[in-house]
Amino acid sequence: MPAAKPLTDHASSKQWTVVDDRMKAEIARRKPKPADVGRAREIAATLRREFPDAKCALNFKTPFQLLIATILSAQCTDERVNQVTPGLFRKYKTPKAFAAAPEGELEEDIRTTGFFNAKAKSLRACCQTLVDDFAGVVPNRIEDLITLRGAARKTANVVRMHGFQYPGLSVDTHFTRIMHRLKLTKEFDPEKIEFDIGALLPPDDWTSFATTVIAHGRKTCHARNPKCDACPIQKLCPNAFKAQGNPRRV
Ligand code: SF4
Repeated sequence: MPAAKPLTDHASSKQWTVVDDRMKAEIARRKPKPADVGRAREIAATLRREFPDAKCALNFKTPFQLLIATILSAQCTDERVNQVTPGLFRKYKTPKAFAAAPEGELEEDIRTTGFFNAKAKSLRACCQTLVDDFAGVVPNRIEDLITLRGAARKTANVVRMHGFQYPGLSVDTHFTRIMHRLKLTKEFDPEKIEFDIGALLPPDDWTSFATTVIAHGRKTCHARNPKCDACPIQKLCPNAFKAQGNPRRV
């Protein structure tokens, strides 16, 4: 097991300058225990070694395509979204095209992703805002991204992380479950979880941590019956074995 990294000053992280002001303020308020900082960094390093090629599971070529795919991925699998988006992006190439999509037609085009009426409404409104307020270009600041309909902090983070290579922590149900099992947060609100984990790890590690945790959840730390006996971070997990075979325990 590698030695824990010393507590790093976040501001010395190369990507600190592109961290949003709210995250900076939340990190400044938090005083994590050094033991948790060391454990979180060992977990991050171990998962990076375990999943060196982990990446966003959504297919896209531009930040705009990623934004659309991420909005569609709510309550839907990435695989299903990836089946829908190639045809969608051939048909609607720009924010203007999505904003002007005929009533009923866009809904039909995205029907298989579920909640298609609400998602179509979000896509039209989001793209109209892109046209009206951002000259048709996806912004890279969280403060701007969260003004787009259908894009809360999680979506904004996904777009920044994978569309712009900025640091980010996208918090979904899988990330939440694993952070609770690892006892790295007590929070249930996704934003508070993001800030708790942001205080434990330097920004340069955020994106790889979020991506590798998702990969770990898919391969080993399943919602039901996590494979604790085959887990690479078992020694760093307070819930090891307690979780196994007892999904209600965590
Ligand atoms: S030891 Fe078990 S509960 Fe802990 S992270 Fe690994 S698989 Fe998940």
